[in-house]
Amino acid sequence: MSGEECFQILNEIFQPKKQQNIEQIKGYTIKYGNIVENNEIIDEVLVSYFKAPKSYTTENMCEINSHGGNIIIKKILEACLNHGAQLAEAGEFTKRAFLNGRIDLLQAESVIDIIHAKSEREAKTSMRQLEGILSRQIKQIKQQILDVMVNIEVAIDYPEYDVEEVTNQQILNMLQKIEHQLLKLESSFDNGKIIKEGIKTAIIGKPNAGKSSLLNAILKEDRAIVSNQEGTTRDTIEEFVTIQGIPLKLIDTAGIRETKDEVEQIGIAKTKKIANQADLIIAIFDATQDLSAEDLEILNLIQDKKVIILLNKIDLNTILTKEDKRLTKVSTHILKISALNNIGIDQLQEEIAKLFHLTEINLDNEIVITNVRHKNLITQAIQHTKEAKKTIESKMPLDIIAMLIKNILEDLGKITGEEVSEDIISEIFSKFCLGK
Ligand code: GDP
Repeated sequence: MSGEECFQILNEIFQPKKQQNIEQIKGYTIKYGNIVENNEIIDEVLVSYFKAPKSYTTENMCEINSHGGNIIIKKILEACLNHGAQLAEAGEFTKRAFLNGRIDLLQAESVIDIIHAKSEREAKTSMRQLEGILSRQIKQIKQQILDVMVNIEVAIDYPEYDVEEVTNQQILNMLQKIEHQLLKLESSFDNGKIIKEGIKTAIIGKPNAGKSSLLNAILKEDRAIVSNQEGTTRDTIEEFVTIQGIPLKLIDTAGIRETKDEVEQIGIAKTKKIANQADLIIAIFDATQDLSAEDLEILNLIQDKKVIILLNKIDLNTILTKEDKRLTKVSTHILKISALNNIGIDQLQEEIAKLFHLTEINLDNEIVITNVRHKNLITQAIQHTKEAKKTIESKMPLDIIAMLIKNILEDLGKITGEEVSEDIISEIFSKFCLGK
């Protein structure tokens, strides 16, 4: 519970073993006792006390830890509600932390990302955003813009000094610098997207090339399978594996498994569809045989994509070589493996990391944008910076320039939440789970 009256409500339903006046109870303490409603003990609990402003929401807060189990929890919740508490909306605790000014909007959004993180890296990036690293960077850029504004105000207010020429050049230089920083943030989004959503990866190859053996080898290698997300049809089962902390979202793994008992195999139309969805294609060929017409057709379909070619079954006598022109034409990332014997799976993982520059994503030194809303606002701010620069170059009056520069400030203010509308705030917090 959070809010002014939470201790009062607690007092009516909680009987601590050692009675104490609320004034005497310090924040960050835990007390032991029973939740009692209508003279009946509901459960034996521990209650944590947090006193304003030192709490998650900055309000008075208490947390009741019960033995768990749906019935007990429901009864405790009902007891709280009976005594005047209101059910929290999704994300309400974090929303209060934001509205009460403890965290900015960007940090609140990172809480959602931490909760939903699918990989260690994503959790780590989100954690850094919660700590405020991105907020500080945005604030710093905003400060630079404010400095520009001060220069402009001076030039507008004291035109008799004829400082305009100099000021124009100064403003231009500063805008240049700001644009550079914004561009850097914008470009970090590609990495951010990978960290957050994973690399959509498809394994393709003709029947018996070794797709399901490869899938098993990858899944076995990766002890940290994050989740199996069942889609609307069996066709769209997605499996996550992580490589160097980055999630791979394996698409159409159901298709691979299904082909086992099907007479009609993968089919060109389907390969095409899968290839279009994927960020990465792992094309697997049986190296003990020459490339068949079907293999060539597959190669033809994927030639414009990011492709890693695997020559499988190297434990047997092989015919295909890495130098084969028909293969190198499509991709230079060719590896010899044995899916069945787990040979080359490590190298495959390294190759993927290399192909997506994953080793260069250094989370400790770099600020990474992971949120589309932030990315779009930064893109907008860059656009406004460009417009402002153009206006200066075409020697427009300073007050017009000042207006344009204010747009940049507004864009950035929307990221941290100072300039954002009620609707957007509601939308953001609706993504939270209850009780967060
Ligand atoms: P899929 O139809 O592409 O999924 O292929 P599978 O993974 O089912 O493999 C087809 C056959 O090739 C199976 O009998 C596998 O045991 C065999 N196979 C797969 N990989 C290897 C390998 O590296 N070496 C050998 N010797 N056999 C393999």
